Amino acid sequence: MIITNVAAALPGERDFRLVDIFIKEGKITAIKEAGTLKGAGGPNVDPARSADEEILDAKGLLAFPGAIDPHVHFDEPGFTHREDFMHGSAEAARGGVTTVIDMPCTSIPPVTAPHALEEKLSIVREKALVDFAFYGGINGHMKPEDIPQVVESLAPNVVGFKSYFISGMDTFPAVDEAQFAAAAQACAKGGRPLLLHAEDPDVIAEATRERAFIRGTQKHQWIDYYASRPMDAEMAAVLKALKLAGQYAKNIHIVHVGTAKAAIAVSERGATCETCAHYLAFDETDFARLGAALKTAPPVKAPEQKAMLWHLLADGQIGFVTSDHAGAPEYEKYTDDPLTAYGGIPGTGTLFPYLLSEGLFAKRLPLERFLEATSGGAARRYGLWQAKGSLLPGKDADFVLVDPDHTSRVIPSNMMSKSAITPFAGMLLSGRIEGTFVRGSCVYASVRLAAALGKKSDTIVNEAGMILARPGFGKFLTWGYR
Ligand SMILES: [Zn+2]
Repeated sequence: MIITNVAAALPGERDFRLVDIFIKEGKITAIKEAGTLKGAGGPNVDPARSADEEILDAKGLLAFPGAIDPHVHFDEPGFTHREDFMHGSAEAARGGVTTVIDMPCTSIPPVTAPHALEEKLSIVREKALVDFAFYGGINGHMKPEDIPQVVESLAPNVVGFKSYFISGMDTFPAVDEAQFAAAAQACAKGGRPLLLHAEDPDVIAEATRERAFIRGTQKHQWIDYYASRPMDAEMAAVLKALKLAGQYAKNIHIVHVGTAKAAIAVSERGATCETCAHYLAFDETDFARLGAALKTAPPVKAPEQKAMLWHLLADGQIGFVTSDHAGAPEYEKYTDDPLTAYGGIPGTGTLFPYLLSEGLFAKRLPLERFLEATSGGAARRYGLWQAKGSLLPGKDADFVLVDPDHTSRVIPSNMMSKSAITPFAGMLLSGRIEGTFVRGSCVYASVRLAAALGKKSDTIVNEAGMILARPGFGKFLTWGYR
């Protein structure tokens, strides 16, 4: 296949370059200056090329490396009333994501032993529409002295390990200090990053007591929720984690950072962090308008944090952006009590479109940082860089085609995840995704692109586009995949 006349976002370039992209057996074989492929005899065309090779003229479109969303909860097996791998990965593809990394804690059994990973893989590999990798889990059930064995046995099949300082899940309890210290050492020695949900349980317990009980029989308001998880809880947890990790601090990755000072503390110690699109887009004043649709754990922060997070992302102190995709059905979201409503939103489909519009097109992120934030940074951190994360010959042909002259509105009925309760609903974004390609195959196509390709879907279709891949097309990736 050849994608011709496309303005591609190539690594190390400050602007788009008009190129032809040559693809064979799922890999990019060459990227050449465009404009030379006019007619069959153009100099870019290999004379040995078969006459029926597919050529897609992408004039007017932009090509980006497929986004990597390294923080999703697709909940399978175990909590598939909230999300499953087919719908989750369909929504990922719809949003330009070509690789997801799924969390270990929201499946049953959690991924804390090889047999659990095998069981999850046997189910997921029949359903995934985009490429995927797993994290292993370190939790409060483990004795510190057993943790090295857990890490060693899972490391070949995971790209990192996830732990919590505070957990809302009975099936995946938080770690204590001794467990975290043991995990930090074991993960560093095993060559996999240790991810941490960083909120200090003591800070939250105290704030929650004030909010949950003093009000007595009165109805809880949204302020009771976000005040029960104060911003200071993040910094306290980050400082504790870095201290406990000691010489292994560089191997720690803090997930869903929402406060600027925590991000700075992380980067000063050579550790890494991510933020999520919702911390860039919303703040606690939006709860009055959006209610449960905005509820995540941790919650979005005070208004001044958003601009600071954008700056830290632009200068690289925040490495990349994730969705923390975690949808839930209406009866779990709309409980009429801010303290019990499910904390989590389905975000994998809005991650890339939001960053494209509000990051790149709105000039908050230069092109190079946009690419790191959406694909390169995660690919490097999780051992996938040899084949993923940028448009380069030799890598997998994972890319997104975007029409920069169209806008797209976030419409819940067009989402492909099981839940479509999102705070992004109604948002008008610059740019429209026309196609998402994984290893050279078109997995998602807009109605327009599907017509141009002459393709129909037998998987999922809606007003805006359709899934063209079959469930099971997605490939299981491990550290060092090439
Ligand atoms: Zn999460």
